[in-house]
Amino acid sequence: MAKKLVIFLLFLLIIILLPNTVLAEDKEKSLYEERLALYKKTAALTEIPWYYIAAVDQYERQIHKDLEPDQLISIRIPPEYWFGVGNASTDIKSIEFFNGIGKDGNGDKKADPENGEDVLFTMASYIKSFGHSEEDFKIALWNYYKRDLTVQTIKNTARVFKKFKAIYLTDRDFPVAINYNYSYRNTWGDRRGFGGNRIHEGTDIFAGYGTPVHSTTYGVVELKGWNLYGGWRVGIRDIFNIYHYYAHLSGFEEGLKVGQIVKPGDVLGSVGSTGYGPPGTSGKFPPHLHYGMYKDNGYSEWSFDPYPYLRKWERMARNKR
Ligand SMILES: [Zn+2]
Repeated sequence: MAKKLVIFLLFLLIIILLPNTVLAEDKEKSLYEERLALYKKTAALTEIPWYYIAAVDQYERQIHKDLEPDQLISIRIPPEYWFGVGNASTDIKSIEFFNGIGKDGNGDKKADPENGEDVLFTMASYIKSFGHSEEDFKIALWNYYKRDLTVQTIKNTARVFKKFKAIYLTDRDFPVAINYNYSYRNTWGDRRGFGGNRIHEGTDIFAGYGTPVHSTTYGVVELKGWNLYGGWRVGIRDIFNIYHYYAHLSGFEEGLKVGQIVKPGDVLGSVGSTGYGPPGTSGKFPPHLHYGMYKDNGYSEWSFDPYPYLRKWERMARNKR
């Protein structure tokens, strides 16, 4: 009897929880669809490509800490820029008079910095004032953010959105081909381990020489080459402004180059044991992939533990087979 009750309660739990997770995914997807529609509307109004506008919004979504989980648009234009110095009115005539950049995107004669359409139209108009080419876009971004990494990240995110014609890019992969033998455990913060950091900033995935190394995310190759401790290594920045670091490779995939757009599963190279010496040094430790993740907030960059993500992506990769 007790067993039956447990089964019944479990069943009840499943029907309560299942629709919630499905619902959360649907909600997220429709939020992205709503965003894309607004980017495209703004693009139609300004002739600035939707993926430029989308990339700026995507970047700002990663740097503001106090956003609502379902916030549609995340670009935040400083009030002194928006209204003009000495003005607090959303009236477009008043903003123009005080040399503010705030504009009315939804046609209500007000430029409201809390209104997504107004914000997108204002940002796109600002970009447009520099011109329409990719170089003009870069100059506009530099004038606005005054930080090289920010400009590069937004530009590369725009290239990813353009290439895949989408902003809802949820696919991921495990960094080591899952049909090969491999092992890993949570080594975050270990004093031992290979990587050359005072504490171990990443996860070591042990596998045989030549095991394919996959990109885990959509992104752009930011760095490729030799490093004293990392050996042959690749760095990829994804569309969430996260830098993925793959070290100790035995070699790179042929043709892989800095600036290249990648997607989950793309082969970057293979597992090796390079590092701890001049270029080409190998075999000073067992072959493994050192995988690190770094978050950038627009000012500085810090490492965080990739282990929980690796577990999740491993499950995703196994479910796909
Ligand atoms: Zn390591």
